[in-house]
Amino acid sequence: MEKADIRELLRASGFRFDKALGQNFIFDGNLLSAIAADAGAAAGETVVEIGTGAGTLTRALADAADRVISFEVDERLKDILSLTLAGADNVTVVFRDVLKMTDAELSAVVGGGSFRVAGNLPYCVTTPMIMRFAESDLPVSSITVMVQKEVADRLVARPGTPEYSAVTLGVKLFGDARITRDVGRRMFLPAPNVDSAVVRIDRVEGRSCGEDPAALRRIIRAGFAMRRKTLANNLAAAYSVPREKANEAIAAAGFPPLVRGETLSLSDYIKLLGALRATGTI
Ligand code: SAM
Repeated sequence: MEKADIRELLRASGFRFDKALGQNFIFDGNLLSAIAADAGAAAGETVVEIGTGAGTLTRALADAADRVISFEVDERLKDILSLTLAGADNVTVVFRDVLKMTDAELSAVVGGGSFRVAGNLPYCVTTPMIMRFAESDLPVSSITVMVQKEVADRLVARPGTPEYSAVTLGVKLFGDARITRDVGRRMFLPAPNVDSAVVRIDRVEGRSCGEDPAALRRIIRAGFAMRRKTLANNLAAAYSVPREKANEAIAAAGFPPLVRGETLSLSDYIKLLGALRATGTI
């Protein structure tokens, strides 16, 4: 079905875009194909899409990939999708909220084998949705998401910059993030108040260097808890230990006493976790 027809179909059916669900749809064929390519949709690949909408990106993904499993929460889209995705035999639409599904439930739907995640995400669930896959044990090979430009900048930020955050490092634990394209607000219907960007995160095996990722996530959260405080103060508060103990671990890791958490890289945090253990601080 032509993109213009889909817009007409939505209009004719009286469909009302739900702002709370982040319903800003994309209809531009070139952009949709480019996002599908950014997401690694190709022969031999299975893609899990979050947020089917009217099925426009779903189609582009399905044109390139072997199989697409697309999740949507808004059941009002059922009838429209049965028309827009008619004949797309490699697509399964599942009306469930991925954030409320366990890994086992997801695996039962998606099947075995690695898959790529793609989606033009509702802005309200961007970070939880990325972390839901990045922190899971599911065989996710990449995560490609359309996000608000400032979120994109945070995902690819460098240590010591204002955009650098616990989320940057949470993502880094999964793999390497890069912005594949900027997308202006006018490419969406209805147009949101912000510009967007597509970010692709490719899994890098062994990022935690044998450390427990959950312990690393905890120490990273602690490091960013209060931006104006020193790392020693943040660690002392997060682990309920005297500041001297935190200082001892920081020195053992080779960092200056007044170091701040937002200047450390992932490998610095891995070093710090080792030092916290070695000094008996945690
Ligand atoms: N993929 C379509 C496109 O590019 O035009 C739609 C994108 S729209 C920004 C986001 C879609 O995600 C909406 O259709 C919304 O109903 C759906 N959605 C919102 N929260 C969701 C969730 N937790 N799980 C799955 N889909 C969700």
